[in-house]
Amino acid sequence: MATRYEGVEMALWETSNGVADGGSGTRGLSWGAAVCRNERGLVKIDQISDSVYVVAGTNVNWALVSDGSRVAVIDAGYPSDSADVIASVGEIGHRLGDIAAVLITHAHLDHIGGVPTLVERAGMPVYTGEEEVRHAKREYLQQISPVGMVKQLATARGRRWVSHTLPAIFGHIRMTLPTATPARAETLAALPGGLIAIPAPGHTSGHTAYLMPSEGVLFSGDALVTAHPLSPRTGPQILPSVFNHDESGTHDTALRLVTQPARILVPGHGLPVPFDPARFREALSGQ
Ligand SMILES: [Zn+2]
Repeated sequence: MATRYEGVEMALWETSNGVADGGSGTRGLSWGAAVCRNERGLVKIDQISDSVYVVAGTNVNWALVSDGSRVAVIDAGYPSDSADVIASVGEIGHRLGDIAAVLITHAHLDHIGGVPTLVERAGMPVYTGEEEVRHAKREYLQQISPVGMVKQLATARGRRWVSHTLPAIFGHIRMTLPTATPARAETLAALPGGLIAIPAPGHTSGHTAYLMPSEGVLFSGDALVTAHPLSPRTGPQILPSVFNHDESGTHDTALRLVTQPARILVPGHGLPVPFDPARFREALSGQ
């Protein structure tokens, strides 16, 4: 099977049941994988189709879509992931100057963290949904509150999540994306991957998913995920309600995303998995 990672630490596996299972041997969808070494450990990069690479940062994913000469970055981890975002672009054979644009699913700190550094270093455009631009500029904030975070300390799972999250955002709580602009359809179509923006409101009002029709990849951000440190299970799901601005809207959007013509789901949290509408619907009906 094709991989661009000859000579780098390798892993190769495929899903056996169509659902990521982090509890029993972590099966995910991957053509090949590599790791970047950083001072904190390893960052895993999975190539999940011809052009798409998914990078696992601090409890959150970002994706790189390469057309061979240019690359589109979809989401950018926590502020503390900035160096790893840059390293991951290099790891798949690109320079920062190859980045045609950064696309943001939504303006939570765990998805925009690397953007200021990327923009400062290479000045690429930053796109998101029209409504999410206002959120990215912090005309308003729809994010878990400090009180909501403190409440997570009541459980061991929550304490672990808080202990990972606080250092990842420390010093960057007021981060904004002043250069964010709405993603116009023709602009997205001309980017590596030829992407289509899909409004996915609920988790935030302007949350936007991206579909890559040519390879059937749906980048769902936090509108539909397959795991989260605060969730007791893996598999298709919406995030715990403490993270969602509009819970019923989040649920409705997840069910709508399941109808997209995709064959691979790349979520903001959890492993990429084969797109299986019947299983996804069944899993979401229990939430
Ligand atoms: Zn989010």
